Amino acid sequence: MHQLTLAEIARGLADKKFSSEELTKTLLARIAQLDPQLNSFISLTEDLALQQAKAADARRANGESGALLGAPIAHKDLFCTQGIRTSCGSKMLDNFKAPYDATVVAKLASAGAVTLGKTNMDEFAMGSANESSYYGAVKNPWNLEHVPGGSSGGSAAAVAARLLPAATATDTGGSIRQPAAFTNLTGLKPTYGRVSRWGMIAYASSLDQGGPLARTAEDCAILLQGMAGFDANDSTSIDEPVPDYSASLNDSLKGLRIGVPKEYFSAGLDPRIAELIHHSIKELEKLGAVIKEISLPNMQHAIPAYYVIAPAEASSNLSRFDGVRFGHRCADPKNLEDLYKRSRGEGFGAEVQRRIMVGAYALSAGYYDAYYLKAQKIRRLVKNDFMAAFNEVDIILGPTTPNPAWKLGAKNSDPVAAYLEDVYTITANLAGLPGLSMPAGFVDGLPVGVQLLAPYFQEGRLLNVAHQYQLNTDWHTRTPTGF
Ligand code: GLN
Repeated sequence: MHQLTLAEIARGLADKKFSSEELTKTLLARIAQLDPQLNSFISLTEDLALQQAKAADARRANGESGALLGAPIAHKDLFCTQGIRTSCGSKMLDNFKAPYDATVVAKLASAGAVTLGKTNMDEFAMGSANESSYYGAVKNPWNLEHVPGGSSGGSAAAVAARLLPAATATDTGGSIRQPAAFTNLTGLKPTYGRVSRWGMIAYASSLDQGGPLARTAEDCAILLQGMAGFDANDSTSIDEPVPDYSASLNDSLKGLRIGVPKEYFSAGLDPRIAELIHHSIKELEKLGAVIKEISLPNMQHAIPAYYVIAPAEASSNLSRFDGVRFGHRCADPKNLEDLYKRSRGEGFGAEVQRRIMVGAYALSAGYYDAYYLKAQKIRRLVKNDFMAAFNEVDIILGPTTPNPAWKLGAKNSDPVAAYLEDVYTITANLAGLPGLSMPAGFVDGLPVGVQLLAPYFQEGRLLNVAHQYQLNTDWHTRTPTGF
């Protein structure tokens, strides 16, 4: 049963082949047996899951239907879940039980999804390896000595290991697409404003966006359908109708114009990944797509701009964790300043402290113009490059990452080396565009992802292209040995 996709589960439940309760029990047992190798969960919510599964079965017995009714999922542990620990991977929030559900959590629950637990993540979503979690590193099911990617590494490892069919995740600079690439999944970062951020603990508010991680594009369409939509509680949510994402999966790719940026194939890209990307281009050409070389001239400036803007916003967002209102408070504070200093010093890990310092420095009076303002100008140039490119093409295609998943610990002493791995993903966040990563082959037994980018609100197009690709390839069906 654990091999079933969300789409197959929906059919099985509708045909009464099994109940949601049976499926939920099977998956909880599988998590108990296999997760100790991976560390993909921070909290399990067995009681809630069984209660939701029984309720979903009852709703089906009463004639209700729906692709998510009775479907087991998990939430990245930065989506607030009422009465359940919401840690954000940090000691700071180890004791924090959210007083309300995030909009995404509430929407999926009302669609009948069953929450198995909260998944591990880099602390406050800062990272590309899931090694900065207070709850320990997550392992990649394709090779337990390698990282699963981050910051949504727990969601990715759990879905890749068939502990559950799909999970929620968030992407500030690549944290849905990069772990999808590293673990052979399909992951979609929606347009900024498509999915509500209400109750999603903020890292960098102008970049953060929630989205689905699953094995297939078809399943991403199902999960996104349950997550997307306007939310008056989120002032950056956009009031744009949500299309039926499953309905356009089978649109033809005849005449689809795919742009391949020449800057993507620079010296930093592993040549074996470049070769796999060229194979995926050939595959899409066979389906009728027309390939065109394009240019994104400002791409080289995106990493420095992102690593100013994201820490700047983080330093502001994380100022609320002060030992007074949320989370960790130091023992016996001598005075207010001591309370702030020690609570924050003890509650935040090294990477979070580094980013708060970088961000506060970039925003400080003397350096604002030189760093933050300059970075915002680059952000506009990056967006303009995309707008010009989308005048000529419908989709942009390239690698999701320059290298496959690295060994645990390999980049711990050099944070900049890890930042450089985000080169292909962060531009979509800077511009607010939707992006998808899908499986495209293997290098040394480790999965490789191909990334597709589209104009604003064209998530349906991305899912359509990925689905057609997946009907004609079988990379996404490969299962890691031992799982
Ligand atoms: N690796 C990037 C960072 O550390 C992106 C993380 C994310 O998307 N949450 O900022």
